[in-house]
Amino acid sequence: MRIANKKRFIISCVFFTLVLSIFGKMSIFLQRDGTSFPIVMAVDKNKEENSNNNKNYTIVLDPGHGGVDLGTSYKNFNEKDLTLKIVKYAEEYLKDEGYAVVLTRNEDKLVPLKEIGNIANNSNADVFVSVHINSLQDINYKGITGYYYDGKGYETDERIKLVKTIGDEILKSDSWEDKGVKRENFAVLRYTKMPSALIECGFITNEEDRARLSKDEVLKRLAENISKGIINYLDHQVKNGYNKNSEDYTKLMVDEKSMK
Ligand SMILES: [Zn+2]
Repeated sequence: MRIANKKRFIISCVFFTLVLSIFGKMSIFLQRDGTSFPIVMAVDKNKEENSNNNKNYTIVLDPGHGGVDLGTSYKNFNEKDLTLKIVKYAEEYLKDEGYAVVLTRNEDKLVPLKEIGNIANNSNADVFVSVHINSLQDINYKGITGYYYDGKGYETDERIKLVKTIGDEILKSDSWEDKGVKRENFAVLRYTKMPSALIECGFITNEEDRARLSKDEVLKRLAENISKGIINYLDHQVKNGYNKNSEDYTKLMVDEKSMK
């Protein structure tokens, strides 16, 4: 490059940088039918604000089973693999939305149930969701079942709300059958002190559910809908001024010993 061209090039660069920076700070108005409306980066700004707010929340996701514990299985389908896939998709979705996500496992290994509870409690999580796949001898059974547990009536309303909100979102896609919300004394729901849910994502023993679970895009939609349910639930918590440190969980844990 000759010196003269180089100078011209530098001047052009400075000029364009100035023009761009001036435009960058302005809202651009366009005329349409006599009305002017601003084109501002509203979407990006909202996303940025959401991300900042969402960073206050920690979500713990638990892919059921792992390692030597296959969970339920049908031919080459293992529950432990499906749950890990779903949870990893959910992790990706929630992280993109600005939430902090902790997985109880992100590889094929067995985590003891008590340890799963400890991971959730030590993360100071706002929500805990365990993902499973169901099975039954009666192959006609299909659909989504949501479980909650409220030892000694602990946070009953919150826990039911969480399960219902997640279920409502899942049922919006892929024609899953609604198997409802049930109360069950599952260890992971008993050990976790924050609002928690266990979702049985279809029956591996049912042909229709199995066909759904064999499609990666269905697993991804499941994960996204579980995530949307969690987000809706957290929004509900904010509206209702829920305080995760307000209830005496220590007392509940003492009571738990007498329940065994
Ligand atoms: Zn399971």
